[in-house]
Amino acid sequence: MEGVATMVTYSRPSLREDFELAIVCALPLEFDAVSLVFDEFWDQDGDRYGRARGDQNTYTTGRVGKHNVVLALLPNMGKASAAGTTASLRSSYTKLRLVILSGICGGVPYPGDKVEIILGDVVVSKHIVQYDYGRQYPGQFVTRDTVDDTLGRPTKDIRSLLATFETEHGLENLQRKTSEFLIQLQQSAETKGRRFRYEYPGTSQDILFASTYVHKHQEQRDCSCSESSFACEVAVVASCEELRCDASNTIPRERLGEQHHLEPKKEGSVAQQPKIFLGGVGSGDTVMKSGQDRDKIANAHGLIAFEMEGAGLSNELPCIVVKGVCDYADSHKNKMWQSFAAATSASATKALLERYTQTDQPADSILRSDTSPMPSVIIPFSRDADFVERGSILDQVHRNCAKQGSRTALVGLGGVG
Ligand SMILES: [Zn+2]
Ligand SMILES: [Zn+2]
Repeated sequence: MEGVATMVTYSRPSLREDFELAIVCALPLEFDAVSLVFDEFWDQDGDRYGRARGDQNTYTTGRVGKHNVVLALLPNMGKASAAGTTASLRSSYTKLRLVILSGICGGVPYPGDKVEIILGDVVVSKHIVQYDYGRQYPGQFVTRDTVDDTLGRPTKDIRSLLATFETEHGLENLQRKTSEFLIQLQQSAETKGRRFRYEYPGTSQDILFASTYVHKHQEQRDCSCSESSFACEVAVVASCEELRCDASNTIPRERLGEQHHLEPKKEGSVAQQPKIFLGGVGSGDTVMKSGQDRDKIANAHGLIAFEMEGAGLSNELPCIVVKGVCDYADSHKNKMWQSFAAATSASATKALLERYTQTDQPADSILRSDTSPMPSVIIPFSRDADFVERGSILDQVHRNCAKQGSRTALVGLGGVG
């Protein structure tokens, strides 16, 4: 059968209970990127699944690879919004086994010895640390320790999935598939005429300043904050160019010099090959915008990235954060990398789901071959009042079925008896 592709079509699930996976996004930009990795939508002609009483969320349903997935957009950023939305999600979709939080985050540039994270890379949470949950002592903040105390351990299901990616083989495979899906996503954005094309912004735009070098007016003639250790209100929202942040304070990144990092144009799409990192992800209610605090907190808790929703989600459902690095969580951050990072996250999410093992379903609800173009539906019949029961024969059948190892054949014309 070599060379003959078997056409497989997937039937639309009939119930909300058929969904085991959800993807949650905090920003419309993230949601739009994820929508491009769906292979099929189940609700293009209107919502079919409804929601539980009291649930205010709006859902998009469809298929990503072999999985049915429900996609939700949070009404706001942050932990409280994430927790509320996820609680409602759980009330409507009661059989969810895993939620992936897909989107953008701030990366820790050097999370460990010889480990270098650059913009566009993807982080996958092994555990989530609510780093701003604890006690403020004079001059010192003590965090309640990691996930084990505050958020519960990741489920066995999640741990076994992530263990695959801790092997070099598994991680290489995940990265290769992510790059493939990224190219498809970029092409799809172009075909659909999307506002964002999710292109790689270029190595020259990936700038890391020394953690001690603060984003403020750099020259005395511009502003007096140049003499202070803090930025003035104007500087906080200004760009590095406007403030004259000095390139001599940037840290050269080894990986940006690598040849394969930026691929030549491929059918109109520039494809970067993001690396994927597994580790602790810091989740807090404040935006991390300080290089020095970033490094201090990351060192203390073994973090590779910072974001704002993971803690709220993982309180409610088993959750993995899969986020693209769009800045270095310092004061110089800007929005230039957001759409590309959202795209690498969406692509990695799809690659990760490909490795996720599905639980057994009634065969009917998963696959059917292309030989039957009509969707199959099971309609439960109520008992027919005119049914004339042949009691003694049925009793005989029941007795036979109850005997272990026995086989019973019912022979006759369909619909007659
Ligand atoms: Zn200033
Ligand atoms: Zn700056």
